Amino acid sequence: MPVVVETAADCRQTLEECRLAGRSVGLVPTMGALHAGHVSLMDRARAECGTVAVSIFVNPLQFGDPEDIAHYPRTLDQDLAVCAEAGVDVVFVPSVREMYPEWPAPVATTVSVRGVSDGWEGASRPGHFDGVATVVAKLFAIAGPCRAYFGEKDYQQLAVVRQMVADLSLPVSVIGCPIVREPDGLALSSRNVRLSVAERRAAVVLSGALARGRSLLAQGAGSSTVAEAMRAVVEEEPLVHLDYAVAVGAHDLVAREAIEDPAAVRLLIAADVGPVRLIDNCAGAVMAPATSEPPRAGSAGAHGTGPANGRQLERIG
Ligand code: AMP
Repeated sequence: MPVVVETAADCRQTLEECRLAGRSVGLVPTMGALHAGHVSLMDRARAECGTVAVSIFVNPLQFGDPEDIAHYPRTLDQDLAVCAEAGVDVVFVPSVREMYPEWPAPVATTVSVRGVSDGWEGASRPGHFDGVATVVAKLFAIAGPCRAYFGEKDYQQLAVVRQMVADLSLPVSVIGCPIVREPDGLALSSRNVRLSVAERRAAVVLSGALARGRSLLAQGAGSSTVAEAMRAVVEEEPLVHLDYAVAVGAHDLVAREAIEDPAAVRLLIAADVGPVRLIDNCAGAVMAPATSEPPRAGSAGAHGTGPANGRQLERIG
């Protein structure tokens, strides 16, 4: 069973002792309601690090909509069992008071990452990425030097975290991990449990739209053609209300019309399905079994071949 720590001081000390004992630390930040997508990050951390720590914290600072946080699934007992099964060593489960002692009073010091936070999720959810960057900065400050594992599922979030780490010279290596999908293409998300049967069936149009966009990119289409085609796929499904579907630069997340190299493009999509906001994305061109960064030499093969990784797909739709 993993060690469960609830205070920043205990977490810091536990992970510092691991490093002093010569074990590198892999950190997997989550909001709980763990599923195979989270497990894929734990598997990758297990394969590459001596100690694996998972944080479970539903961060109020990143939720604009009180309904969203009120309904966010919380399944701590189950989550601890998932962590134990995945061979996690340390689970950090802080309270809101531990992370933000004055809450709900505004937090005085926050982190804002300009540029990459501005569009898409940042535009639709004002303040969201400030909340994300702030809590991730705190988790990194608590965990100390580590490798931190994030899913490409939240592609813009990954870009924001990478930018923050570079700009603030934080002693953290950020590892992006591929999206884990259901067999029909829907990206796993803790929010999927809130979909009705009909909404769950309808939600597959997101990955279908991405697949359509990618196939048009392969045929040399420009980004407005790709965006319109993705929109048209979603509009055929009345239960899904599109927010955006765009082709952007894979690094700067800026929309651009002329596309010279589909591999340098990322397709992003977001929609409301019933009460739930869903996001998804994919690379502009299919690459070899996708990872943002190859596993370190000597670490591949021993781990990370479980069922979750078997579902890591660049296949969509
Ligand atoms: P969350 O608990 O939703 O904040 O997610 C915690 C981490 O798990 C984030 O880095 C997410 O990008 C990642 N994650 C969530 N869903 C998936 C998925 N389907 N595949 C891969 N990673 C995921």
